[in-house]
Amino acid sequence: MMDTDLFVAWFEESARLIRRERDRLTRLDAAIGDADHGTNLDRGFSEVCKALADDPPGSAAEVLTTAGVTLIRRVGGAAGPLYGSVFRQMGRALPESPVTLAGFAAAFEEGVVAVERLGKAALGDKTMVDALAPASRALSLAVRDGVGVRQAVEQAAHAAREGAKSTIPMQAKRGRASYLGPRSIGHEDPGAASAALLLEALASVVE
Ligand code: ADP
Ligand code: MG
Ligand code: MG
Repeated sequence: MMDTDLFVAWFEESARLIRRERDRLTRLDAAIGDADHGTNLDRGFSEVCKALADDPPGSAAEVLTTAGVTLIRRVGGAAGPLYGSVFRQMGRALPESPVTLAGFAAAFEEGVVAVERLGKAALGDKTMVDALAPASRALSLAVRDGVGVRQAVEQAAHAAREGAKSTIPMQAKRGRASYLGPRSIGHEDPGAASAALLLEALASVVE
């Protein structure tokens, strides 16, 4: 079971990891974008934590909706609205708390579909989708196999990390990096790297 506090802890830990990795994310974005991904997300996730503290959510769905809306409103650039849509859609799709792994996995998948639709991005386009979609698949497989929550989120975090690494040899088809054409090859996508951090944060707050 995944309760409201767990989802709040997820965003707090995400904010902490993003702050810690801010400069690395920005360096990745300097290579194939405009060098703002780390600062964009650092600002966005600290705003999320502030919103959650100011107005304590009553359910897991509310945590995700607050996070999504805050990221959409407060973060400039592509990634804020894209992550915002993931979480807002997850919030819509999440069943009443406490949330089961199956309910979470289904909502996560809907979140990924939302970003694919909004960003017109598919697997292999060198975006956050390359980390989020494998994580979603890992969660669904864990549900199918009857794996516990902890192992499921660890497998999802591993899949996201592998997915982020898989973007290195890709040529970007979406977002700013796509303007570079073949010169985008050879660099990890910053959004895929941050998505891997979000899954790492989830794995570290699940006991
Ligand atoms: P911006 O590119 O506007 O400066 P960020 O630097 O914060 O925004 O985020 C860049 C990341 O957003 C990329 O690394 C990529 O993962 C993701 N991204 C950009 N455009 C798209 C898109 N159309 N679909 C999915 N993800 C995208
Ligand atoms: Mg950028
Ligand atoms: Mg920008």
